[in-house]
Amino acid sequence: MRAKFGGNNLAKKKLRDVQQSFDESLAELMDSVNKTGKMTEAGNGKGKKAKAEEPAIIPGKREVLTDVVAAEEPFETMEDGIRPIRPEKYEVPASLMGRTFINAFKDFPRNSEPSVKIIPLGGLDRIGMNITAFEYGEDIIVVDCGVAFPEDDMLGVDLVIPDVTYLKQNIDRVRGFVITHGHEDHIGALPYILKEINVPVYATRLTIGIIENKLKEHGLLQTTKRKVVKYGSTITLGAFRVEFIRTNHSISDAAALAIFTPAGIIMHTGDFKVDYTPVLGEPIDLQRFGELGRRGVLALLCDSTNVLRPGFTMSERTVGKRLDGIFEEHPDSRIIVATFASNVDRVQQIIDCAVKYKRKVVVEGRSMVNTIATAGELGYINIPEGTIIDNEMMKEYPDNKLVLITTGSQGEAMAALSRIAFGNHKKIQVKPGDCVILSSTPIPGNEKNVARIMNELSMKGTTVIYENTHVSGHACQEEIKLIYALTRPKFALPVHGEYRHRVRQAELANEMGVPKDRCLVLASGEVLELGANHARIDGMVSAQGVFVDGLGVGDVGNIVLRDRQCLSENGLIIVVMTFDRYSNQVVAGPDIVSRGFVYVREAEGLMEQSKIVVEDCLARCQKRNVTDWTKIKADIKDSLSSYIWKNIKRTPMILPIIMEV
Ligand SMILES: [Zn+2]
Ligand SMILES: [Zn+2]
Repeated sequence: MRAKFGGNNLAKKKLRDVQQSFDESLAELMDSVNKTGKMTEAGNGKGKKAKAEEPAIIPGKREVLTDVVAAEEPFETMEDGIRPIRPEKYEVPASLMGRTFINAFKDFPRNSEPSVKIIPLGGLDRIGMNITAFEYGEDIIVVDCGVAFPEDDMLGVDLVIPDVTYLKQNIDRVRGFVITHGHEDHIGALPYILKEINVPVYATRLTIGIIENKLKEHGLLQTTKRKVVKYGSTITLGAFRVEFIRTNHSISDAAALAIFTPAGIIMHTGDFKVDYTPVLGEPIDLQRFGELGRRGVLALLCDSTNVLRPGFTMSERTVGKRLDGIFEEHPDSRIIVATFASNVDRVQQIIDCAVKYKRKVVVEGRSMVNTIATAGELGYINIPEGTIIDNEMMKEYPDNKLVLITTGSQGEAMAALSRIAFGNHKKIQVKPGDCVILSSTPIPGNEKNVARIMNELSMKGTTVIYENTHVSGHACQEEIKLIYALTRPKFALPVHGEYRHRVRQAELANEMGVPKDRCLVLASGEVLELGANHARIDGMVSAQGVFVDGLGVGDVGNIVLRDRQCLSENGLIIVVMTFDRYSNQVVAGPDIVSRGFVYVREAEGLMEQSKIVVEDCLARCQKRNVTDWTKIKADIKDSLSSYIWKNIKRTPMILPIIMEV
């Protein structure tokens, strides 16, 4: 689903701006050519290493193509027929209209330098469903394979998974899935996609552990090859080498990827933040980011989630201190903490508080139980013996000796917290005096549900605490700038965010010295071809997402959704009538049945009139000797819907049914 951008005037203005900046760069380029008398080429194409001491990008300087003219290898030695980048007037295709940042180097000749294709198959139009294919020659690797949760207009849809038609068409070339971390928006679609594209999965240890839980549920454990990769290690997948680099995030074992390709090094941050004092393990490996930056990074794909927030994201440890304070202030209450099941470090800090204040812990919610079990087995969480008790045992302990950790901090109706709050939980009810901590912030779209639960909890006499009880797992502006400063990429390709987030990151990248026309705000499905000195959009592949509804994958499309929308807003009218097989005369009906349209008892007049409208219509058909049922049905539909629209301004779905005797 693509966002619609700006008005026509805005688009024209932006187009003008872009063209103007191209003209400027062209002038600059010609200027330098005149001065040096020849054109030179640099960068890390053709297997040459980038010059470390000669930064490709000069921070703060809004100059385009600096690295192209400021190198040593003479232009003459290049293959015949190769021209330098010629920033001609760029024709903006309709799909790119109104974008601030577009590809400048369309005209660079094909096959003149090694180039890699980057194809985002999701994750760019909204938060979720992250999946990006990287293609070089005969090899394709796929980074992440996540789900998105349905939007309000996707009625009845449970999940949205990526459309991998392009991968299926090239299945012989797909070498594997490389996964950055164990969140649903990065791994959730694996069980669905692996059924069609069975290639190995590579990830760090906890991430593989979480993926294995999923594979088990889908019966795919035996048929899926998987490999645990350590931080600092590299795997080779065809022409690609992929190194896993330690980062911090709201789940342990998150990794950034350095993807080494013959066209240059591509850095993918995954979801990250900079936490100098993480709860478990070490801070993000900034040194490695810097080393790779010195070697020369072709492109940086960086997390945009928090790019609208200035400053730094706080350390996870600050939440631990806050929780400790709350435990100390509520010595007599039973404490219930709701948080994200996947945030192992958060759970660790809650358990640490419980141990310190001599409370037993009850874990509620299936995903929470699973995560704690997996994290415990793999050594990512430290729980002293006897701390966790079964919920059956709760009555053996007084309230002030208990802590409940539950899922449902996003207000999900079926999750434990919601069931506890509304009295639908079999074993646990809230009571006055309980202290409920929401250790999370609502993801946009969930605010109403969370508020509903908070109201319910307050009405039942509990204390609800939600301030400063959460820190984000994503980098704010200063952290993003730090990554740009360390990696100094030639191209910035903001990922993981809505359009507005990615545009903001492109602006940040530009502030950090990446020329404007090298900050590419892509759309899902666009095939970006990238070389040391060129970038162009080289076609589109389908990337709309596939709806999962119950057990059905992909059988709910736009038409079904439109029907559901119509039904939910306007209801349904069924017109049933019976025809005689030989004479085609109406022998019974028409009968009119409605659901979700009007309350029939109060609208008897309307229903009677509707019946007359249908009878008139049938009579007209008879008169004109119409015997085609499709035609008769269409006529009934038309006359009835215009009658209803005239009278009560509604457009219910109308289903004429003809039976034959
Ligand atoms: Zn994440
Ligand atoms: Zn994510």
